Amino acid sequence: MNACESLSTLGPQLAAVREQFPILAQTLRGKPLVYLDNAATTQKPLAVLDAMRAFELRDYANVHRGVHLLSQRATDAFESARAKAAAFLHAASSKEIVFVRGATEAINLVAQSFARPRLQPGDEVLVTAMEHHANIVPWQMVCEAAGAKLRVLPISDGGVLDLQALPALLTTRTRMLAVTHVSNVLGTVNDVARIVQLAHAHGVPVLVDGAQAVAHLPVDVQALGCDFYVFSGHKLYGPTGIGVLWGRAEHLAAMPPYQGGGDMIRTVSFEFTTYADPPARFEAGTPHITGAVGLAAAIDCVQSLGWDAIRAHERALLELAQNELLRIPGLRIHGTVADKIGVVSFNVEGIHAHDLGTIVDAEGVAIRAGHHCAMPLMQRYGVAAMARASLGVYNTEGDMHALVRAVRKAHAMFAA
Ligand code: PLP
Repeated sequence: MNACESLSTLGPQLAAVREQFPILAQTLRGKPLVYLDNAATTQKPLAVLDAMRAFELRDYANVHRGVHLLSQRATDAFESARAKAAAFLHAASSKEIVFVRGATEAINLVAQSFARPRLQPGDEVLVTAMEHHANIVPWQMVCEAAGAKLRVLPISDGGVLDLQALPALLTTRTRMLAVTHVSNVLGTVNDVARIVQLAHAHGVPVLVDGAQAVAHLPVDVQALGCDFYVFSGHKLYGPTGIGVLWGRAEHLAAMPPYQGGGDMIRTVSFEFTTYADPPARFEAGTPHITGAVGLAAAIDCVQSLGWDAIRAHERALLELAQNELLRIPGLRIHGTVADKIGVVSFNVEGIHAHDLGTIVDAEGVAIRAGHHCAMPLMQRYGVAAMARASLGVYNTEGDMHALVRAVRKAHAMFAA
């Protein structure tokens, strides 16, 4: 039985869920910690920490290189983590899973290896107004190198992509579309399947940034129909430094390597080098082996909780937080779609988001304040920064009340 199975019913068993995350059971600044910065990074359950420790204590060695037994055990663990990631995304094959450092590296890999060789001067790459910098800057860099242009699909005030505007933006010059599955600021879940349909009708491949999706909803890359899907382990209750790029086998097979080094070659001489097949072609150097083991354990944890339970729990908490926050005078929530994922971003009139974050922190409540790596989105809403509370499976109603109390306190301080 995996250590997370005790978590399978959220709600009545929330105490058991929280026991899996000992970091939460502490006081900070004399107050019980209320961790609401899960969109930045999630905490790790004992099951993940234990799996990584057990692997390092018993099975650790380098992978794919040694004939010795320990290396074979490490390779088995690493490759079974790859198979687990493939099943998690409903990929057709684990050969379509490339281990990377995280979502950012995955997007850079696709931008440089897939998009860059296809871009000519005057071509276009399409992103959306709600992207994280990780899904803007890599495309800007390849556009700049090729003399191509970055185009932007707009959003409504409520935080919904304007899909009516999409067909006109998909021109004969569009070479790539990159879109987030879930917005890290607005919580909007984008209709990725529909976007892919429209893009493919124009022959445009689609990368989906799943960084904020994978901890909150099931992902089926084949049902979405996209060409690439990326995510980071540390936003899925797993470790930092490990993430996944899923790419269609035919794309990966046609892509040149992104980095050179050990493990990605077939033969090397001083005259020329031939490259390994994917995914090894894109995994130069010693990977984060223990990280992959931790990621596999994190996937087990999330799946043993069940998507319906996770969704229902986070939705109930979000509704509670939003309803209570909206009673505070001058508070404005950004992103108002009914079906959003566990994120609430807001501003309070007359209080800078950083001040809000600091006052709330003094109450033991950890939220994020700033531009959330989405400066163009801040401009879209006419603010320099927002405060953001983001939820995880271990958050409680009490956490929501603590957040609201702390924001009320900030409001009272500034009103005085
Ligand atoms: N995409 C989105 C939507 C994100 O929220 C983040 C991180 O916050 C990233 C990409 C980048 O993830 P990482 O820093 O793990 O590469």
